[in-house]
Amino acid sequence: MAPQDIVIVGAGFSAAALVIHLLKRGFPASHLTVIGHGLLGAGNAYGCNSDVFRLNIREDLPIIFSEDPLHFARWAKVHVDDHDAKTHAGYFYLRRDFAKYINQLIQEYDPQRQLRQIPANVINIQQNQTLWQLALDTGESVLAKNLVLATGNMPPKWPCPIHINANKTSEKLAAYSLVENPWSGEWVQTINQTDDIILLGGGLTALDTISALENIHHRGKIYIVSPRGKLPPEQATWIRSQKPLWPSQLTPRTLVRFMRSYLPDASVHSVEWQCAWEELRPQLNEIWQGFSAQQRAKLSKRLGWLWSLYRFRASPQSIAAFQKLKQQIDIQIGRVKEVQVNDDDISVNLNNGTRITGHWVINCTGVGVDGLAENLIINKIAIADALGISIAVNKHFEVLRTTSTSWDNLFLLGPGTMGSLGDVVAASAIAAQAERLSLQLKTRGQRASMDRPLSA
Ligand SMILES: Cc1cc2nc3c(=O)[nH]c(=O)nc-3n(C[C@H](O)[C@H](O)[C@H](O)COP(=O)(O)OP(=O)(O)OC[C@H]3O[C@@H](n4cnc5c(N)ncnc54)[C@H](O)[C@@H]3O)c2cc1C
Repeated sequence: MAPQDIVIVGAGFSAAALVIHLLKRGFPASHLTVIGHGLLGAGNAYGCNSDVFRLNIREDLPIIFSEDPLHFARWAKVHVDDHDAKTHAGYFYLRRDFAKYINQLIQEYDPQRQLRQIPANVINIQQNQTLWQLALDTGESVLAKNLVLATGNMPPKWPCPIHINANKTSEKLAAYSLVENPWSGEWVQTINQTDDIILLGGGLTALDTISALENIHHRGKIYIVSPRGKLPPEQATWIRSQKPLWPSQLTPRTLVRFMRSYLPDASVHSVEWQCAWEELRPQLNEIWQGFSAQQRAKLSKRLGWLWSLYRFRASPQSIAAFQKLKQQIDIQIGRVKEVQVNDDDISVNLNNGTRITGHWVINCTGVGVDGLAENLIINKIAIADALGISIAVNKHFEVLRTTSTSWDNLFLLGPGTMGSLGDVVAASAIAAQAERLSLQLKTRGQRASMDRPLSA
C-alpha cells in the first residue's frame, strides 16, 4: 500500500472529531485512513448499547464546533426521542445517541464514503525513513506520512490478583461473573435480580453500573468498595458568569490556595459551588502547562483524587438510580487486595481486613494502560509524560522524542495528552484539540503541495 497522508490510530471520539474537522476544512477524505474497530466515533465511551448509560454533561456542553456550540443540542432536539433525557439540570442524552450524532456528522462531510477505515489494532510503530510504519494485528502493514495516535481510554484492568479455585464450577463462575470491563453494559443481561454485586471503585462507572441494575429492578445487595467512600456529586445547573483574577507566578501551592479562596463555603452539590468551580476550570490547562514535570507530578499525587471526584460529576438520572437503590447499597471504605472465586460465590478481600462475599464482581476502577504508548517509550520513539501515564507531547500535540525535541509528523490527541496539556477528557476539550490539530495538518498539507514541483 502506498504511504497514506494522514493515518489515525483508534476509531473513537478523538479520531472522529479530527476527521470531522479535517473534512470541514476541505481535506480530501480519500487522503485519510483510520485504523480501529467499530463505528467511527463510538469508541469506549459511546460505543455502548445501554438504555441508561448517559452523557454526564448537559446538552450544551459537548461542543464539536467552537463557532456553533449548540449544534449537538439542536441535533438532539430533532433526532432523539428520549423522554427521560430532561432533568432539572438540563438534558442528559444517552451515550449511544451521541455516537449516532458523531457518525452522522462524518457521513455529512464524507457523503461518498471515501474515508478508509481498517478494522484492526496497531501493535507496533516504527520509523521508516521519513514515514511511520505500522504493524497491524491482521498481519498488514501501513505506511503513514503523518500519524495521529487517538487511542483514548484503555479498557479497565483488574487492580488486584484474581484467584480461581482449580475446578470446573469455579472456572465457570469466574467466566461470567467477573466483569473486568463494564463499559459496554452487556453484562447486565445475565445478572439475576437477587444476585449480590460487588463494585470495585466508586466513580462514574460505578454509578453507570448502578443505573443498569436499577433498570432491571435489581433486588440483591450492592457493595461499593472505594478508598474514600465518596461518590461523584450530581451536576447542578451551573453557569460561568465571571472570570477569576488569577494571581501571576503561580506554584502548585498558591494555585491550591487561590482555588480554595475562590470556592464558596457551600456544598459541592450546590449551584453556587459548581458555578465557582467551573469558572476556575478554563484557565487550568494553561496553568498546568506552565508547571514543571515535577510540579505536575506532585500536584497530581496530592490532589488527583479530589480533582477526579469533583471534576467528574454525574447525570441527575444516575444519581436518581442510586437514590432508588440506596437501601441495598453498602459502601465499604478500603482498597481491594485480592478477589477469590470459590465454588458458588466470590469473595473480595480488602486491605483493612474486611472480606465481602457476593455473586458478581464488577471492575469500576477506571482506565487501563496503553501498550502501544508503552512500546513507543521502550523503543525510544517517545518519552513518558509527567504523570507516567502516557507519552509526552508539546502544545502542538507533537510527540516528544526527548525533553527538548519533537516529531513533526507524529501526534497524540485526546485523553493521553492529559499529563502534558492538562484536563483533556471531556468531549468538548478533545474536539477543541481536534479543531486546532486539523488546522495544523491542513496548513502543513498546503505547504507540502506548494513545495512540490509543478510536474509532480
Ligand atoms: C465509559 C466512558 C464514558 C464517558 N462519558 C463521557 C461523557 O459522558 N461526557 C464526556 O464529555 N466525556 C466522557 N468520557 C470521556 C472520554 O474520554 C471522551 O469523551 C472521549 O470519548 C475519548 O475518546 P477517544 O477516542 O480518545 O477514546 P476512546 O473512546 O477510548 O476510543 C479509542 C479507540 O481507540 C481504539 N484503540 C486503542 N488502541 C488501539 C490500537 N493500538 N489500534 C487500533 N485501535 C486502538 C480503542 O479500541 C477505542 O475504540 C467518557 C469516557 C469513558 C471511558
